[in-house]
Amino acid sequence: MGLLHIYCGDGKGKTTASLGLAIRAVGAGLSVCFLQFMKGGDTAELNTLKHIPGIKVMRCDRQYPFFSKMTETEKAEITACHDRLLEEAFSGGFDMIVLDEFNCAYRFGLMNCRRARDLIVNGRESAELILTGRDPDDEFIRLADYVSEIKCVKHPFEKGVPSRKGIEY
Ligand code: ATP
Ligand code: MG
Repeated sequence: MGLLHIYCGDGKGKTTASLGLAIRAVGAGLSVCFLQFMKGGDTAELNTLKHIPGIKVMRCDRQYPFFSKMTETEKAEITACHDRLLEEAFSGGFDMIVLDEFNCAYRFGLMNCRRARDLIVNGRESAELILTGRDPDDEFIRLADYVSEIKCVKHPFEKGVPSRKGIEY
């Protein structure tokens, strides 16, 4: 155990790939923490995950607006929430820790980035770590063992198809 994975790029499939990995791991008897950054709203995978013992889901209690629309108070709140969840994830003795949308939250500075980096560098020896999000920091790319970039060739959003429950969320 103890390799670092990144799912990045502008195509669809990063979060769903990490969910697939989590399901495979739990099927092999590993304990999994699935920490979702930036997300507090309803996503359908939560309805499934709550029935799977062995996967602990962690996220903030409320949905925050897009970063560009956040007030300073909201930024401070979500940062405090991310910092708390990160500490909890890395102190839980999990075999696998998925940090979904970490790359985005890290880039926006919505966490104590130095502390997050240290947790990842030290924590990867004891757990399999997965970071998702479009645009990862170069340092994590250097540190990672697996980097899979999902490239968007087509997405129906471009022809006006709105996001669909059960497919996009
Ligand atoms: P999924 O959760 O379906 O695996 P993702 O994690 O790769 O997607 P994110 O970058 O987290 O995608 O984007 C969040 C939402 O934006 C998802 O609903 C996703 O389907 C959608 N999306 C992904 N790629 C694109 C794109 N190129 N254009 C528009 N929307 C996209
Ligand atoms: Mg995603």
